[in-house]
Amino acid sequence: MNKKNGAVLVLSGPSGAGKSSLINKVFDDLGECYFSISTTTRPMRSGEVDGIHYYFVSEAEFKKDIEENYFLEYAVVHGNYYGTSLKPVRDALSAGKLVLFDIDVQGNTAINNRLGDITTSVFVTTPTLSELKRRLQGRSTDSQEVIHNRLQMAKREVQRISEYDYLVINDNLDEASEILKLIAKAARMKIPSNDINEFVQKWEDI
Ligand code: 5GP
Repeated sequence: MNKKNGAVLVLSGPSGAGKSSLINKVFDDLGECYFSISTTTRPMRSGEVDGIHYYFVSEAEFKKDIEENYFLEYAVVHGNYYGTSLKPVRDALSAGKLVLFDIDVQGNTAINNRLGDITTSVFVTTPTLSELKRRLQGRSTDSQEVIHNRLQMAKREVQRISEYDYLVINDNLDEASEILKLIAKAARMKIPSNDINEFVQKWEDI
């Protein structure tokens, strides 16, 4: 029971809710941790770096990766493909790391179906829809049409908060970061079901 277990922490929530800022702020305080870098067909935004924020690929490359079973999960979000690579996640889990995902609601469902017993999920959002709109407009990286689509999508995503273990309202980044650190600590303590059986068996024997 004292062996190191890997665990999964999923963060979802509307684009613009501040998931990336939160992850950047807490990452160094989370201990042995791996952030799953997704692959996407979405165009790179200014300031983004290939291999750090995402692996940016063409649609043809993405479809080839699907055929080769490269993904743990993938989904179409805002008209672009996004996917989580299986191998680095598997390696990080075997090394006992906490694996962090920034994925949408479809991705959370897929991860829970495959790794539910070691997964903790968090939905991050702004206090209100109008605050989300303000932040997206302030980001000035997206056109009005893209912002409109993201807000419509956000309204649909918020309907699915009940599928998550925790809700973090990112009103104040410092406060939200402290809450996320506590959740990450608890996520590491989640016990895979086969370990529970092993523990109960040993516990009864002694
Ligand atoms: P953005 O384009 O703003 O970086 O991300 C758009 C949405 O795609 C966000 O909700 C983000 O969480 C989600 N996303 C990013 N990577 C993945 C992934 O690998 N799988 C899934 N299902 N969603 C992802």
